[in-house]
Amino acid sequence: MITAKFGGTSLADAAHFTMVRDILAQDPERKFIVVSAPGKRTPDDTKITDLLYRCHQASRQGGDVAATFAPVQARFQEIMDELHLDLDLSHEFQATLWAMERGAGEAFCASRGEYFSGRIMASLLDLPFLDPAQCVFFDKAGHFDSEAANETLTSKLQGLSGAVMPGFYGGMPDGTAATFSRGGSDISGAILARASGSSVYENWTDVSGVLAADPRVVANPSHIGTITYTEVRELAYLGATVLHEDAIYPVKLAGIPVHIRNTMTPSAHGTWIVAQSHEPAGAITGLAGRRGYSAIQVEKERSNTEIGYCRKILSCLERNGVPFEHLATGIGSVSLVAPTSYLDKCRADLLEDIRACVNPDTLQICDGLAMIAVVGRGMAGRPHVAAKVFTAVANAGVNVRLIDQGTKELNIVLGVEEKDYEIAMNAIFNSFFP
Ligand code: ASP
Repeated sequence: MITAKFGGTSLADAAHFTMVRDILAQDPERKFIVVSAPGKRTPDDTKITDLLYRCHQASRQGGDVAATFAPVQARFQEIMDELHLDLDLSHEFQATLWAMERGAGEAFCASRGEYFSGRIMASLLDLPFLDPAQCVFFDKAGHFDSEAANETLTSKLQGLSGAVMPGFYGGMPDGTAATFSRGGSDISGAILARASGSSVYENWTDVSGVLAADPRVVANPSHIGTITYTEVRELAYLGATVLHEDAIYPVKLAGIPVHIRNTMTPSAHGTWIVAQSHEPAGAITGLAGRRGYSAIQVEKERSNTEIGYCRKILSCLERNGVPFEHLATGIGSVSLVAPTSYLDKCRADLLEDIRACVNPDTLQICDGLAMIAVVGRGMAGRPHVAAKVFTAVANAGVNVRLIDQGTKELNIVLGVEEKDYEIAMNAIFNSFFP
C-alpha cells in the first residue's frame, strides 16, 4: 500500500489534477492521497496559500476580504468546471468568506487551500474525504501531537481502502484550525503513511528528486539516487528544500521509505530516502548551505577551568530567545553560531547579559557568515574526506572561519564569509563530483 502526496505545482490547474489521476491509476496500491493547495501556474502567478494569507491580512486590517477571496474561489471553480465534476462548493465558499470577514484565525484562512483541493480530489477519484481537523491534532500550545494524531487517524482509517486527506493543517483542542509551517503538507503525508501502515510514502513534486547541491549556487548538480533519513535531515537543515525537514520523523519511526518523484516526468527514478542504504556510498552525498549567520565570540583567560562557564553563556542565549546551531571552543574562547535574524532583535541586551554573567575579557559578534554542510554517510571512518574539503576551499582562496564535525562523522560543517559562499560551495562540489 502506498501513500502519495502531491505538492502545489502538481495541482496548479485542472490539467495537473488529471495528470495526478493518471499517475494514481498506474498503480492501484496508491490508496491514500494527500494534497497541497494549488501552487503557481506560471512563475509570476500567486500560490493559493499566499492569497489566503492575504485574505486574513485584509480581514485584520479592515480591507476588502471579498475582493481578496474572489480569485481563490475563481481558481477552484475553474478547476472543477474543467474537470466536469458533479460537485457544488458554492455554499462552502460563501461560508468561508463569511468566516474570514468575521475574523477567522490565520490558520483557518490558510488551511482552506488544502481543504478545497482535497474536496475536489476526493470527488475526482471518488474516494472518501478525510478532514485532518478531526484527526491531525495539535496541542494547546500549537505543537503537533504526534501520538494522539496517529492513534485517531489509525482508527479512522479502519475499514477504509483509500482516502483523500488535505495536507498542511489539523485541529486544536478547542476546535480551531492549526497549520504546520510552510510546505507542511509533506508532514501530513508522512503522518498518513505511518497511520495507514503504507510500505512506501511517495512524495510527488516538481523536481526529479534531491539534488547534490542547490542549483542556484552550483551549475547542474547531479541527482541523488538514494539517501538516508539522517542525511536528508542534515541537508534540509541547511537549506535543501525538497522535503520539509519535519516530514522525516513519522516515516522514520515506522521505517517507511520515502520516494521523491516528479509529477511531470513520472518515469524518472527520483530519490529514495531510506533508513539504511546497502549501496556503496560515495565519500559525500550532498552539500547544503545558507548565508545569514553570526558568531558570538567570548574570550576569557582561564575560562576552561571555570565550571559552568559555557552553561552561563548558553543561559544568556536562552533568556534572549536565541537558538544556536554550532558551538566551537578553544582554550579560553567560545564561539557560538546563530542566525543573525535572531540577534537583530536582542543584540545589545544579549551582550550586556553575557558581560554580566561571565565577565569576559573580550566579547564581540561577527556577522556575515555563511555555513556550509558537507554531508555523507560514506565519510565515516574514511580518511581524506576532510582533507579534500579543506584543500578544495584553500585552493579557491577561501578562508575557513569555523569548523564543526558531527560525532557520527556524517557531516563536516564549515563557516566562511558570505562573500566566499558560492566560491566555496563550487570548489567543494567540483572536487567531489568532477
Ligand atoms: N500550501 C502550503 C504552503 O504553500 C503547504 C504545502 O503546500 O505544503 O506552504
